[in-house]
Amino acid sequence: MIEENYRKVEEKVRAAAVRSGRQPEDVTLIAVSKTKPLSDIEALIRIGVREFGENKPQELKEKYDSVSQPVHFHQIGHLQTNKVKYVIDRAVLIHSVDSVHLAEQIQKEAEKRGLTTEVLIEVNAAGEDTKFGVSIDETEPLVREIAKFPNIRIRGLMTIAPFVDDPEENRAVFRAMKQLLLDIKSQKIDNVDMSVLSMGMTNDYEVAIEEGATMVRVGTAIFGERNYDI
Ligand SMILES: *Cc1c(COP(=O)(O)O)cnc(C)c1O
Repeated sequence: MIEENYRKVEEKVRAAAVRSGRQPEDVTLIAVSKTKPLSDIEALIRIGVREFGENKPQELKEKYDSVSQPVHFHQIGHLQTNKVKYVIDRAVLIHSVDSVHLAEQIQKEAEKRGLTTEVLIEVNAAGEDTKFGVSIDETEPLVREIAKFPNIRIRGLMTIAPFVDDPEENRAVFRAMKQLLLDIKSQKIDNVDMSVLSMGMTNDYEVAIEEGATMVRVGTAIFGERNYDI
């Protein structure tokens, strides 16, 4: 069931990549396993899936430490400074860096362990008050500040688009994110490569890919609805 769902999403990801004039391998599908049991992750590992996303640092830690073979876990949800220690040597990429304060803590923990931590800057592209992330205008200044940290490498940008009924409503948001990525890339800031654009979830990942996403984070379409009461 989960395996079939994954295959279907993977096929749509490929088709959208081709539609946007890219190679299917240029778009990474991250299976967002938050709240879901380890057995669901193991089912996907058996069919070769290697990229998983979690939004709670402690849950990422527990799953990372329990899986039967090494796979990549992405920290996609908001990260508090006191939780950096759980993900620093486990997350392959932290998608949700949105302040110098958080970057300072990542720097400290990464330096202590002799690591370079790869991060994305989270952008609140639609300016919703309920969302974490910096505004489009604040993004380049923040990138420039965080680029100074020697144990952090900025790989690109991430956004969580508004929850909408029709994914077409988010097309302009995704397009603005791609433009922002290109604008910052053209500045050639040291220690910043701007090759990753993480955007698109169950409801809108195809539109996000058409507009340039290189990573999509899909939960519900693969694992089914989440139950937060348990
Ligand atoms: C939960 C979550 C997703 C996946 O959402 P779905 O709509 O279930 O695909 C993607 N990104 C982030 C940051 C999330 O927290």
